[in-house]
Amino acid sequence: MQSWALSSVLVTGANRGLGLELVHQLARAERPPRYLLAGCRDPQSTRAQDLMNLAKSFSNIKVLKLDVDDFGSIQECAAQAEKILENNGLNLLINNAGASYSGALNEITPESMMNSYRTNVVGPMMLTKVLLPTLQKAACLNDEFKAAVINMSSIMASLELFNDKSGTAYAYRASKTALNMVTKCLANELKPHGIISVSLHPGWVQTDMGGEKAPLTKEESVRGILQVVSKLSAKDNGSFLDWKGQHLPW
Ligand code: NDP
Repeated sequence: MQSWALSSVLVTGANRGLGLELVHQLARAERPPRYLLAGCRDPQSTRAQDLMNLAKSFSNIKVLKLDVDDFGSIQECAAQAEKILENNGLNLLINNAGASYSGALNEITPESMMNSYRTNVVGPMMLTKVLLPTLQKAACLNDEFKAAVINMSSIMASLELFNDKSGTAYAYRASKTALNMVTKCLANELKPHGIISVSLHPGWVQTDMGGEKAPLTKEESVRGILQVVSKLSAKDNGSFLDWKGQHLPW
């Protein structure tokens, strides 16, 4: 049973993988959000076809152009979102868009480190910053309700779970660890505004990023994620959770 109503949700990277499945399951939920905003880097491209088709079937889905690497695009997306939401705030931001950079020390370049940081850390943080007024609005509209920011992290970010079999992927790991710190800082700063911030590991999932060998399907992962999200409360603020709701060590 859902403990807080998801009335307005923005999912980034919504054209494929977990982002598309999140929009899909939210649209089909028993109580679908009134506003389901789907951020997508290039809505005109063939990569966005599945999302555009989904949006044709559900009038609450609005596709917004959003490249999280580009601050201008982030600002434009936030302005569009506010226009669509009118005076209703945004009560759930899912910073899902992410990029994976593998590579050991001999393969890593300054560009791959910086690109990873830009997409996986700066983008989610800047989007949260520009959407803060509309998140605050949602948090204020209903006494019982807390708005939330979910940062899609990874178990690969965990310092405690790192071992010699973990592999390298410097750029990806370091960026997601930095994203976890952003979650902690947001949790602290936004708490007085009634906004919860959480890092979430979706499991190892069969997507373009996760690959075919991953044990989890998108459907299973997203079902779990939405269960976890539906049960979030103030005590979860600043947590690192997985798709089953288990706490992960930082
Ligand atoms: P995919 O590679 O399948 O999809 C990534 C999504 O992010 C695409 O929609 C892509 O859009 C979008 N994206 C990438 N860069 C940008 C950008 N600059 N601006 C806007 N959108 C962008 O990944 P998953 O669905 O598997 O992963 C989703 C999230 O979950 C990521 O943050 C990932 O790190 C995390 N995660 C995934 C795991 C897995 O096993 N799959 C495990 C742990 C964490 P486009 O089509 O335009 O490239």
